[in-house]
Amino acid sequence: MDSNALYNIEYGLFVVSARSDNKDNGCIVNTVVQVTSSPARISVTINKQNFTHDMILNTGCFNVSVISQTADFEFFKRFGFQSGRDADKFAGLSGTKRGGNGVIYLTENVNAYISAKVISTVDLGTHTMFIANVTECATLSSDPSMTYSHYHANVKPKHEEKSSASGGFRCKICGYIYEGDELPADFVCPICKHGADDFEKI
Ligand code: FE
Repeated sequence: MDSNALYNIEYGLFVVSARSDNKDNGCIVNTVVQVTSSPARISVTINKQNFTHDMILNTGCFNVSVISQTADFEFFKRFGFQSGRDADKFAGLSGTKRGGNGVIYLTENVNAYISAKVISTVDLGTHTMFIANVTECATLSSDPSMTYSHYHANVKPKHEEKSSASGGFRCKICGYIYEGDELPADFVCPICKHGADDFEKI
């Protein structure tokens, strides 16, 4: 099976945020999908290891900020490459507001926000899919939406490839290069914290 085929599925990129115990947190996902229009309903699938996952499970409320193509790599590092367990991802960030549900959302480098209330969950093993009614939403700018392919082509830093190209693995998410002939199965990218499954041989 050529699992690279799955990388040809195009995705949007989003910050999903939640609030629990007076703490705001958010993470980057590529899994927000509108599932019905009447009523307006979306799904989002989140890795159970994400702090945001437990906050949504506990509160049943979340916001989606639709990332626009103005977002830079620092934006992705802030929300995607650290855990809300260790850091306040919203610290020092000016462009935020709260929805009627009390949950924070972004107003800069995004083009829309959506507030949602969970009506159903599906246990997918490593992930939970949350199905939710849209309770509030607004367009925030006319900038085009960030897509997975735009991120990889224009936002992710380009790393110089070794001229010898004798071994080594590249993280498909952030571009980090692991030097060595064998990538340990339990290797975790030091930059973006994704696992060995997200590395390709170069
Ligand atoms: Fe990485």
